[in-house]
Amino acid sequence: MLLPKFDYHEPATLEEALRLLSEMGGNARIIAGGTDLLVRMKLKVEKPSQLISLRKIPGFDAIIRRENHGVTIGPAVTAAELSKNELILDRFTPIALAAGRLGAPVVRNRATIGGNLVNGRPAADLPPACMVLDATLKLKSATTEREISVGEFFRGPGDTTIEPNELLVSIFVETPAPWSGGAYIKLGARKTLEISMVNVAVLLTLQGQQGLIVDAKIALGAVAPTPVRAFAAEDYLIGRQPSAEVFREAGAIGVGMCEPITDHRGSMEYRCLMIETLTSRALNQAYQNALAWKP
Ligand SMILES: Cc1cc2nc3c(=O)[nH]c(=O)nc-3n(C[C@H](O)[C@H](O)[C@H](O)COP(=O)(O)OP(=O)(O)OC[C@H]3O[C@@H](n4cnc5c(N)ncnc54)[C@H](O)[C@@H]3O)c2cc1C
Repeated sequence: MLLPKFDYHEPATLEEALRLLSEMGGNARIIAGGTDLLVRMKLKVEKPSQLISLRKIPGFDAIIRRENHGVTIGPAVTAAELSKNELILDRFTPIALAAGRLGAPVVRNRATIGGNLVNGRPAADLPPACMVLDATLKLKSATTEREISVGEFFRGPGDTTIEPNELLVSIFVETPAPWSGGAYIKLGARKTLEISMVNVAVLLTLQGQQGLIVDAKIALGAVAPTPVRAFAAEDYLIGRQPSAEVFREAGAIGVGMCEPITDHRGSMEYRCLMIETLTSRALNQAYQNALAWKP
């Protein structure tokens, strides 16, 4: 299958990229790793005549620590980089684990966090991980700038609140409180190169070692038209002493937030069972990681 013809632009600054995007209107698409866009172009689902690359924009591939405050991730940081970056692994664990489960090594070397978020696929790996960490997305056009919480970004399958003239320019994540631990579990039919049948990201915060749960965040993918937070399960966990029983109950409550479908990857009943099991398992893992928290 051949790619349709297009012009390729490599702006060297953000301003130039925004200007091109605004001048070219609906004919232009941003290209980051191209692992989604080029496939869609080959399938003739998308036919942009102009591609604007993010490759040369300074800082877009950087992970910048904000002293004791958080981290700013450039939209063109690859899944491979996120999965092995020590800061992300240590303090923003669900993002590193989710990035490490995206596709296969050859895909992870090109696929970017920006592309994964803007795609808005319900089964994508990074959205639930960003949701439990309450990531803030910065969106810019040639004339506007706004910030939006990742939880408000997704509208439906393949649909987000980004406008055609906007660029996702950064992802900011605040450092979780002390005694926090995270986890990410993805279920697919194969071990690699598989889109999730169900995925679960979790962040738990304890009062201290052996303490009560003071905060809990659970996000689920591939269970509804957009990734969802399991708010009722989170509320149930807050103020409780962590235990396998409590985590099992939270998993059962989490199923109530989902509208899973039956498709070639799995039946609705199987997905519900897996949401319960994987949520409880992810909570256990996050709890162990919280206990191992180091200043
Ligand atoms: C073989 C294969 C396996 C895969 N497996 C998985 C998987 O397991 N899990 C998973 O989640 N995904 C998977 N994917 C999908 C894809 O790899 C990811 O969604 C990837 O993160 C997309 O990033 P990209 O940089 O390649 O995006 P691109 O293809 O470059 O762009 C995707 C879309 O986002 C837009 N875009 C990109 N960056 C920006 C930006 N900064 N601002 C505005 N718009 C932007 C583009 O215009 C385009 O519409 C797979 C794809 C392939 C081909």
